Amino acid sequence: MTLFEKIIAREIPAQIIAEGNDWLAFHDISPQAPVHVLVIPKKAIPRLGEAAPEDVQLLGTLLLAVQEVARKLGLAETGFRVVINHGRDGGETVPHLHIHILGGRPLSWPPG
Ligand code: AMP
Repeated sequence: MTLFEKIIAREIPAQIIAEGNDWLAFHDISPQAPVHVLVIPKKAIPRLGEAAPEDVQLLGTLLLAVQEVARKLGLAETGFRVVINHGRDGGETVPHLHIHILGGRPLSWPPG
């Protein structure tokens, strides 16, 4: 079981913000912005590059979950950034697909 599967199973604690049938949103344990949230599928897809054509609806659901969570956290007006890290160079550290939502301050571009 990955760390995030344990969070889904409530085996380890997390600050959960919202949940759908197929996804869970919770605060990142090491926030890089005033608001830093992760949206994850309940299905254990290791990373974006391993999503399959059968996951197309789930991937769309995750983006709508991002929209819902961003609204809920008051980021819709001020803006936010959505990030998916894939693999070593992308900075992926947990092998369970997750979408970062970062906001609450102006974010620089390009990222480091
Ligand atoms: P990534 O580097 O894209 O794989 O992102 C993994 C993220 O998971 C990092 O931002 C970590 O801070 C976060 N993280 C690791 N463990 C936990 C945890 N127990 N609860 C919440 N977030 C976590």
